[in-house]
Amino acid sequence: MVNEQVLDERLAVLEAARPWSPRVIAKLEGHIRTADDEALFRINPLTFAKDKVLAEDEVIDLLLHATVCRLFRMDWLLLCPKCSCVVESFSSLQGVHNRYHCQLCQSDFEAVLDDFIAVTFTVSPDLREIAFHHPEQLSAADRFFKVGGTRDGRLPDGTPFVEVQRSVTRAVIDLPPGQSSWLEADASEGTVVGLTLEGRAAVLYPIEGPPAAEPQHFEVVFGEKVRKHTARKAAPGRLSLHIRNITSELGTFILAVLPPGMEVGPCPDPLCAIPYGQAAAHHPDFSRPVPLRGDPRERRDRRSRHHPFVYGSEGLDCSLREDR
Ligand SMILES: [Zn+2]
Repeated sequence: MVNEQVLDERLAVLEAARPWSPRVIAKLEGHIRTADDEALFRINPLTFAKDKVLAEDEVIDLLLHATVCRLFRMDWLLLCPKCSCVVESFSSLQGVHNRYHCQLCQSDFEAVLDDFIAVTFTVSPDLREIAFHHPEQLSAADRFFKVGGTRDGRLPDGTPFVEVQRSVTRAVIDLPPGQSSWLEADASEGTVVGLTLEGRAAVLYPIEGPPAAEPQHFEVVFGEKVRKHTARKAAPGRLSLHIRNITSELGTFILAVLPPGMEVGPCPDPLCAIPYGQAAAHHPDFSRPVPLRGDPRERRDRRSRHHPFVYGSEGLDCSLREDR
């Protein structure tokens, strides 16, 4: 449901912000009114431009101005270069750390800003409320694939890598605080993988040897954060996982069986994940440096080592701070 008064007021400000090409504002308004919830969550400007047959530069400008007008909120996504999952999301770049750890493929990385940070736009909740404003109310599968993942990680043929991940997934379940859950799966070959979005359990069971006569039982604890997969061999046959959430928070657990030869993580062409860096590099609104955490000299070094631009704009940061 769109708040008509809020839409009218903010669109009027957006329209007056600068001259726009014909139909640009109308297409944005139509999208806000009629798109499904997912299409208003973390909009990638380049994808939006392509879908609506608009110029990329103008769409980037449009969404930046629309953020200042509070039609949208901006999210910085730190993506894993290996599996293209969303490692973290931030309301501004100032929250980004230099080093980060992917909870799914259990790999450590240095943040290389131009490659692995994507800027996206989500409709403001007081303009139109969408399910993704309340991730805790989403299904476990939507939370895992749509909030914890992105469709911007693509194979060379354009298939979102998240679809490959879905295709090998056997189950995605909620782990209620303090409770136990059971999952069963049949696997004749490959690797059984159990992961959590929260990084509190990560298991890897290569299937090897002669078939098991009885179901094989595995205990999995969702507790302290883990930094690597717990590996244990399993035989072909039925696997039964008993997963205990010993924390006071809701968890999301995924069970997948990877076919032989497929590893945890690697998107075959991971750099497809972030087309946005290149576009932002050419856009004047992204030219004002935003300081990263850490040692100032190191920050300067990092900037000069990578690209001459750092994302961010003072006006947008101010508007976001006021908004929160
Ligand atoms: Zn990863």
